Amino acid sequence: MNPVKMREVAIMGMNSVGKSSLTFKFVWNSFQAEYNPTITDRFTKELEVDHVKYACTFIDTAGQDDYSIFPSSCSSVHGFILVYSINSRKSFDLLHVIRQKIVEYKGDDDIPLVIVGNKRDLEGIQRAVQTEEGRGLSTEWNASFFETSAKEDVELDLRSVFTSAITEIERKQNPHL
Ligand code: GDP
Repeated sequence: MNPVKMREVAIMGMNSVGKSSLTFKFVWNSFQAEYNPTITDRFTKELEVDHVKYACTFIDTAGQDDYSIFPSSCSSVHGFILVYSINSRKSFDLLHVIRQKIVEYKGDDDIPLVIVGNKRDLEGIQRAVQTEEGRGLSTEWNASFFETSAKEDVELDLRSVFTSAITEIERKQNPHL
């Protein structure tokens, strides 16, 4: 039997974009309606991707702003899920700053990345970032892209987001795949 591969993925983005909500929803299939500022938290979940078993650790970071330094809790991370909220232009713009800090820390600009536009349920009333903009950024950064709602999506809907973080890690480690 093949050994289980260990992979660490950090969830990063501005405060309040829904990083914890997405992670809770995926790991426990529950939504916390109350806003609860996160200190760094680690969640483990086993995933099977392309017939390979992965023991995944998802690190829900405290949230970044323009001045945040790269979190020490993420020093051994293999891949990153960068979250913005579709109703916040600022949270989308901040992804450039966050990615730059990751690139500087890792010394590599081809990092395994998934970009997530969360709070899709606010579509129609509060959308400030168009889907094409999120997709365009993912093309520029050679990343995967999803729009989600931690409020309305179920664990199964979010599975592809978290699974694609693993796929991106494998793709960058084995470019011939
Ligand atoms: P974090 O700081 O990025 O971890 O954000 P939280 O997960 O703590 O969420 C911040 C606030 O946004 C909370 O009040 C959540 O209930 C709310 N929230 C999170 N995801 C969604 C979503 O998809 N849709 C809506 N409408 N609210 C959300």
